[in-house]
Amino acid sequence: MPGAGTVKYGGNTACVEIRVGQRTIILDAGSGIIPLGRELARRHALDVVLLFSHLHHDHTQGFPFFVPAYLPNVRLHIFGPGGTPETLSRVLEHNQSSETFPVSLREMASSKDIQSVRESQVIVWDEAGVRLAESTVSLVSEAVVIRIHKSYAHPGGVYIYRITWRGKSIVYATDTEGYVGTDRKLVQFAKDADVLIHDAQYSEEHYRGQLAGFPSTQGYGHSTVTMACEVAAASEAGQLILFHHDPSYSDALVAGMEASAKAQFDQSRAAYEGLEVTLTPSPSPVRRGEVKRDVKYANND
Ligand SMILES: [Zn+2]
Ligand SMILES: [Zn+2]
Repeated sequence: MPGAGTVKYGGNTACVEIRVGQRTIILDAGSGIIPLGRELARRHALDVVLLFSHLHHDHTQGFPFFVPAYLPNVRLHIFGPGGTPETLSRVLEHNQSSETFPVSLREMASSKDIQSVRESQVIVWDEAGVRLAESTVSLVSEAVVIRIHKSYAHPGGVYIYRITWRGKSIVYATDTEGYVGTDRKLVQFAKDADVLIHDAQYSEEHYRGQLAGFPSTQGYGHSTVTMACEVAAASEAGQLILFHHDPSYSDALVAGMEASAKAQFDQSRAAYEGLEVTLTPSPSPVRRGEVKRDVKYANND
């Protein structure tokens, strides 16, 4: 929601860029992907991985305006949930049908590899390129490894991603609601992540229906600050980023939620437009011989 009340934390819907060395991975294509697309075009990014947590409007609506998708030399590797491998491409095509948008997906000049993936698959990006593997595969530590946890804590389900490279991990857990006793599967999946980006859409009062004029949001598939902090503490995350702010919340309200989060989990902050977090990857511990052996094993799998 653009406007005077959302200047600090921003008015765009979900989009996060993960830069891994020279590689670019994008989490969700909310309206935040529009300014990011212009930036990537300036940077001449040729290969881009785009991961969808799920296919609700607020996570896909920026894609038709994503400049790199219109550039003929750009290769987009797009992954997300879906019942069949074609589900994701069908939904994206539908979002740009002639009734809803003037340019179809096929008319966008970039080359696009679009696939619905399963929880048991891992997305690997190494020197050989971007590919899918089964989760049992042995991987060299130079590869960017993206693992998937399928959560049912959001209507229709949602994918939570863990991106790991050279000993550093980021977990992206948007559009998820906390459970009594904390979401143990998520805690396990997010264990020791350096950065946990977690849904914290609602204030406690709003969630419980105690905010005048607002119904309770229990069961909507979004968390409170406390739920996010519980997952961060239990998984021993390095830092927590509160994410997916409610469109009706002002900057002042989000600032209050951030203060409440810090009291519960010290290393917390609310995501804002342009926030950058830097992680220093550990130097690769793998010697050349080990790389060769691992690659051979991976190819045989
Ligand atoms: Zn959603
Ligand atoms: Zn959402």
